[in-house]
Amino acid sequence: MEECIFCKIINGDIPSKKVYEDDVVLCFEDINPAAPVHVLVIPKKHIKNLNEMSNEDSNIIAHIFSVSRDIAKKLDIDDNGYRIVMNCGEDGGQEVEHIHFHMLGGRNLSWPPG
Ligand code: 5GP
Ligand code: ZN
Repeated sequence: MEECIFCKIINGDIPSKKVYEDDVVLCFEDINPAAPVHVLVIPKKHIKNLNEMSNEDSNIIAHIFSVSRDIAKKLDIDDNGYRIVMNCGEDGGQEVEHIHFHMLGGRNLSWPPG
């Protein structure tokens, strides 16, 4: 996955503002924030998107949500609330082909999204 931007962030070739890291996931600030708090939570394993995820990878996704709960507390958006978004494919607006979860908070978020 030499050309994947997020794999490069994971291995340190591209710098990022890290919020959380463990053996399975990395969380870092989005470079173009859409809300006062906008971080990305990604698995260290390169998975293109949900279509490409195997059943065996579902534990990774479960871990991402456990971690996201703790990150919400750490970033102090847990009480006011936040949104987790995963874009998949062209119509879903996915630009980076390494599965990732946006965590957005710090303001009242409109619904439905555009
Ligand atoms: P997508 O549209 O694929 O769901 O979201 C990709 C996100 O990755 C965008 O919000 C974009 O701002 C962010 N992004 C793209 N390249 C970089 C980068 O090099 N560093 C960081 N921190 N975020 C990035
Ligand atoms: Zn990747």
